[in-house]
Amino acid sequence: MATKKLSKITLTQLTLQDRVTGSHTETVHCPNCGQHAERQHIQESRVIRTQCPSCDYLMVTCSLTARVIEAYSSGSWFDR
Ligand SMILES: [Zn+2]
Repeated sequence: MATKKLSKITLTQLTLQDRVTGSHTETVHCPNCGQHAERQHIQESRVIRTQCPSCDYLMVTCSLTARVIEAYSSGSWFDR
């Protein structure tokens, strides 16, 4: 007794919401180690956050005044 089962694969397509939040992420080169880092432009708080997963580099700057709000690096970048 063979039961034929139709397997239906439902592909859930992710709809890209074209909401204009003003926030976006771009891939940049880390100024510390040169690896790929993430730069987030957060419109809400008007900050640009650069984060590198390779060397724990973190830089948060204000997009309006270009002032450094927060900076962190585990490497020797700040010691030089
Ligand atoms: Zn890095």
